This record gives sequence, C-alpha cells and structure tokens, in this order.
Amino acid sequence: MGNDGNQVTLTKEEFARQSRILADSYHRYHIDAMETPDRQALPNNFIVKVGKIGLAKMITSEIFHYWGKWDVVFSRPCTYGVFSGPIGGFSPRPEMCVGCLRCTVQHPEFVTVLPNPARAALGDSYLSSKLISTIDDEARKGTVPVRGQGYRGRFGGPGWDGMFTDMSEIVRPSRDGIHGRELISTVVDIGSKPMSLKFDSNGELVNEGPKMMSIQVPFVFDSPDGNIMTKKLATIWKTAAEQIDTLAMLPAELVTTNSLASRAVVPILSTNDAANAGSFGNGTRMVELDSWDNAAFETAKASNHDLQIGIRLPFESGWQSKLTEMVQAGVPVIHFVANNHGEDNEGNFIMDLLMEAHNMLLESGTRDKVTFLNSGGIVAADHLPKSIICGLDAVGLDLPLFIAMQARLSGDTASRSGYKLKLPRKCDDKWATQRIVNLSASWRDQLLEILGAMGVREVRRLRGEMGRAMWCAHLEAEAFSEIEGFLGGDE
Ligand code: SF4
Repeated sequence: MGNDGNQVTLTKEEFARQSRILADSYHRYHIDAMETPDRQALPNNFIVKVGKIGLAKMITSEIFHYWGKWDVVFSRPCTYGVFSGPIGGFSPRPEMCVGCLRCTVQHPEFVTVLPNPARAALGDSYLSSKLISTIDDEARKGTVPVRGQGYRGRFGGPGWDGMFTDMSEIVRPSRDGIHGRELISTVVDIGSKPMSLKFDSNGELVNEGPKMMSIQVPFVFDSPDGNIMTKKLATIWKTAAEQIDTLAMLPAELVTTNSLASRAVVPILSTNDAANAGSFGNGTRMVELDSWDNAAFETAKASNHDLQIGIRLPFESGWQSKLTEMVQAGVPVIHFVANNHGEDNEGNFIMDLLMEAHNMLLESGTRDKVTFLNSGGIVAADHLPKSIICGLDAVGLDLPLFIAMQARLSGDTASRSGYKLKLPRKCDDKWATQRIVNLSASWRDQLLEILGAMGVREVRRLRGEMGRAMWCAHLEAEAFSEIEGFLGGDE
C-alpha cells in the first residue's frame, strides 16, 4: 500500500482482499424454510375402492397366463404406489392417489376412484378445499408448489381469477433474480413520504422528510376481529414476524399482558386508549387504532412522535369520505379491512375497492403520502401480487396463517370474527412458527417468479401497475362484444 499525497493507493492483492471482505459481509435476504411435517393430515383427496373378488380373479388368471414371468404378475397399475403395500390392491393406500384414473381405465370392472366428500367439505366457497390443500403444502415444504401436470383449471373466473398478470416481457436480468444472481427486492416501505421536498436558501430541508420504515416482504401478520387471537397465537405471530423481518399486528391488551412488545409487533388499540400509544416500548415502531377518530389520532401522535400510526378502515358504506378525511389529517398508514371473502358490506369485491381507493389518491396527488394495507380476501400466493397491482403496498394475513397451522375452521368463516378455530392436538409453538415461516418463504418465492416474469425488479414498482394486468371480462368483451348473443359478465 502506498500513500500518494492524500490518496491511499492499494496494491492489487490488497484491493482484492478488501473487496473479498466487503463481498463476504453482504447478506442477501433469505427466508430459511425447512420441511415441517403435518400434525393433522387433511382427509385424502380420493376414495379408492377395489373389489376383492375381482382382484383375486384377475391375479389368478394372470398367474396362469404369465406363469414364470413374476415381474408381470406382480406389476401394479399405479405408479404412485397406491397398490404397492405388502398385500397390494387388497389394502390400497388412498393417501397416495392423485386421481389420474389409470387404474380405473385398466380395471374398470373392480376399481373405482371417487373424490372424497370429506376433503371437498373443507373451507367454504371462497377459501376452497383446493386452496387449503395448497397452503398446507406450502407450509409443509416452504417451496413453490410444482405438480408437473400443467394448469388444469379454467381461465378466468370470479374474484382474483378474473385478473391476469402480463408476463409477456421476459427480461433476463430479472429472471436471474430468482436464481440469486441478481436481486429482485421484495422490501416495502410503511409510512409516509412528502410529495415534494422544500429547501431554504441555505439548502436546508424545510418541510418534513420521509417518515418510513421498511419490512422485507409485502405482507404482515394480522389479527382477526373478536376474541379469536390468544396468547399462544400472538406469540407465534410475533416470533415468525421477527424471523422474517415483517410485522405482527396484535390486540394491545395481549401485547401488554404477555409482554410481547417488540420492533416487530404493532399493538392494535381502541380509540379510547389512544393516549397509551407511546407506552409499549421495547423497540415498538408502530401502533394501529382500530377505527378512525381524528382526536384519537392526534392523541396517539402526541404520545410519541417517532411512532408510525396506522388506522384500520373497514370497507363499509361511506369509507371513501373517511379515507379523504384521513389523508387530509395526515394519517400515514391506512389499513383497509374487508370480510374474509374480500367483500365490503354491500358485496363489492376488494379488487375494485382497492383500485378505487388508489385512484382516488392518484387524482388528488397524494398517493405517496400514504401506505395502504388490506386484510381479508387474500388467501393464495397469486392474490398477493394481484392486490399490489390494484394499489396496495402490503397485505395483512390471518386466515392463511391458521390454515398453515392446520387449524380447522367452523362457523361463519366469511366474517372476521364469527368463526371458531380448532388447532391440531400437538401444535407446539416451534412447529407452528416454522409452518408460518415456510408459508412466507413459499409466497415470497412465488412473488419473485411473477416479478421476474413481468420484468419488475422490485415489488414497490408493482404497486398500482394496472397497465400490466388484464381482466378476463375486458378481454372477452373486446373479442366477442360484436357477436350476437354475447352476454358479457365476469364468468
Ligand atoms: S387413480 Fe391413478 S393415482 Fe389413483 S390409484 Fe388409480 S392409478 Fe393410482
């Protein structure tokens, strides 16, 4: 190393060594997924019935026909191992059946394979048994589900299925992000940015600068309404949120009585308790008020100026005027709440509601001043980018976390407080936390797939990118509206 005047010149070796140290100190964000077996397996997908007499007759006839060729005699028609137990088809293993129907085609006289009604009965009309089984799989493995059977569903459908993302721009550097060679960022900012910066003649900033915090994934763990959250669930939410660097929104009472305050925990306070907003400590960065009240918001703000204050805004008639008031009052984080089917109290779907809210703020030139969150109606990995395209910054998850923990739901599952949870008998905190971490890893990886395929390098740039999405109803209308008999609609 030499000293050339004020400049320090490094030898090649020294420069290489320092560069190596710098490179080694870089930590790329990653979620540690780990296979976490089920504690309460879902009912089998299919019921496999084998007629014992028919099977015995077939084996007898094959022994005569193929005497000596035992590999032929003992071959089984199912490559998935349903008939590969010690006594073959006499005791099938339906948990391995994928419903390919090969056995029924080969031996229709004594094999039947039927969908299992117990499996189909899981969930409800929105959170279907198929979605439950997908979440279960994601929470077990923490990977992107790959079935190798292609897409077998229909194109288009109600709700989020009526929206497609534009993946026509395959941009190679962004594809590289999926394999770790380049970065696709899933970081989102929570808080408020001024729409412009103002400086005095000395170059000093005179208006308030950005007041934001960042989380590593565009989703937070939310609490359902009512008394569904318990100390156990709150502790699991908190631990998982700390592990993946996101936020857990928990009722303030649970936070206080169980000493759960942390930088990853967002206590939810009633407006009557707004004065306690600054009392949680232990690194608390944000609190939420459970409804809009200007005086309560000012009280919460005054209790600690460094805190982010979020306000929950249920999608109920008149939400638009409350949203306008909140933006004018300077609320930095607005957390919309729909029911579990993603609807407001009049049955409108969040896809349209979110676009309306986003466009309202675009028109008033205030969109960047506010962070939008939404809970309710996001129950599959593809709902996450779709809701961001509609204008959200991040999503609040609750039901998918319960499903990841293999909870069985009963009661009014459409409402946010009218259902009951039954957790598996052996549901220890470590197991449940890892299942939620796995689900997060899987959903993040699927988000990276979509961002990569769309050529978008960071999820922040996806917000409100409606021009990169297509709606089935619009495409059909464009193609068929001039054809007599075309009825239009979303189906
Ligand atoms: S339907 Fe397919 S997977 Fe199921 S038992 Fe028959 S061959 Fe095996």
